[in-house]
Amino acid sequence: MNRKYYGKVIFELSRHGRRGYSLPKNGCDGGLDGIPEQLMRSSDPVLPEVDEPTVVRHYNNMSTNNFGVDTGFYPLGSCTMKYNPKINEEISSLPAFTSLHPFQPSATVQGALEAYYMLQSKLSEIGGMAEFTLNPYAGAHGELTGLMVIRAYHESRGDMARTKVIVPDSAHGTNPASAAVAGLKVVEVKSLPDGTVDIDALRPLLDETVAAVMMTNPNTVGIFEHSIPEIAEMVHACGALMYYDGANLNPMLGVARPGDMGFDVMHINLHKTFSTPHGGGGPGSGPVGVRDGLQQFLPNPRVVKRNVSGDSTFELDFGTEKGPHALGRISAWLGNFAVELRALAYILSLGRDGLKMAGALATLNANYVKESLRDLYELPIDRVCKHEFVFDGLADKSSGVTTLNIAKRLLDHGFHAPTIYFPLLFHESLMIEPTETESKETLDDFIAVMRDIAREAVESPETVKNAPLETPVRKPDDTAAALNPIVTFTELQNTAMA
Ligand SMILES: *Cc1c(COP(=O)(O)O)cnc(C)c1O
Repeated sequence: MNRKYYGKVIFELSRHGRRGYSLPKNGCDGGLDGIPEQLMRSSDPVLPEVDEPTVVRHYNNMSTNNFGVDTGFYPLGSCTMKYNPKINEEISSLPAFTSLHPFQPSATVQGALEAYYMLQSKLSEIGGMAEFTLNPYAGAHGELTGLMVIRAYHESRGDMARTKVIVPDSAHGTNPASAAVAGLKVVEVKSLPDGTVDIDALRPLLDETVAAVMMTNPNTVGIFEHSIPEIAEMVHACGALMYYDGANLNPMLGVARPGDMGFDVMHINLHKTFSTPHGGGGPGSGPVGVRDGLQQFLPNPRVVKRNVSGDSTFELDFGTEKGPHALGRISAWLGNFAVELRALAYILSLGRDGLKMAGALATLNANYVKESLRDLYELPIDRVCKHEFVFDGLADKSSGVTTLNIAKRLLDHGFHAPTIYFPLLFHESLMIEPTETESKETLDDFIAVMRDIAREAVESPETVKNAPLETPVRKPDDTAAALNPIVTFTELQNTAMA
């Protein structure tokens, strides 16, 4: 880290007349011949003027200001920031995959299609579903696709009155957002004090206008929803379908399957559970699975396996066999193939037992961290959790130190902050998901730091409230940034020209 470059944009390093290149003069002069006068610039472009070492140092220093799961512990609840094994990267970047063109004839891409088919099948096995499409680009996109499948199902039966989606109050924001984008109306159902869905509040909401109930299990506070089979029975009895938000599939791996619990449609966030580096907007993949009887509504294309005179071949099915109800395309071509390859590499390298162990360790780690901090942090739901849990700020709130302060102070100690102020069930939510890939030493370091911060909040609250003290950028003014965003270099261009 070099402080000279901290938080600077390249315009600030610019000096008039500095160059990082040299071009032959004639080449430039000759190149202007024949360009019509009205197309010529009237003034020079304002670009940073820097020498080559400055450019190299600027970008290299900037890259080290990034925080990622490869640089430190990242306990971001709900997002499953587990370590991404490098073998996934190697497999997905093999030239045999990266040099393919989507328009190549199937006969020349049998290996890629087989990999695709294999992942479709593995996900069906893991989720307890009849078929998966790998087309959607993210969890939210999977939700939208799944809800469109559900709508197509109701419409195919002439059941046009089903326009509502019931969503728990603890749900991730994408659930109601996807329902709205799918043209459905969102109805919220309350949770009980232990964070699980209140069946008695749900029952009166179920009628012939409900298209689906969206849930996740374990739910957003990391608690296993034991009543899902009962809920599924009620929902099916009213003619609606059960949608499973698979973002919390990690602790269920090899232990319990959404299909067996009574869910009809689900998505999986491959980038979370099946380890693709994500964050900052991508890349992702949100395959959607359906139970038997709903396959014909899935989008196209998909990969099918055929047996031709004893040999298996793989082909793209554009929906010609599916009839009038299939969704058609919801993404360009087959989805995010490189993410799909990473997920397949991960699933095959862990195998059945490894996946099951991942879920169990994620659960053990979350409970270990929870139990090691519960004397100093408020634990609103005191139960065995699955892969994540939620504190409601400090147990002793007399210092006025908030969850935001704690999150910022963690940055000074080299940890990424947990998810904060989500779920909305508590005022000071601090949602911790350690994942299975962290060693006991890392968890112990994190616990020690969290205990130090709680002590510091009592002994020197101003230090915590002013955090972060040691990061390249201190505390940005979130409100000013939202109200008055500066998205161009206008100010700095003047600096550059000076
Ligand atoms: C991450 C997440 C989503 C959305 O998934 P994206 O892949 O980010 O679009 C939905 N629900 C829950 C519970 C999540 O954690």
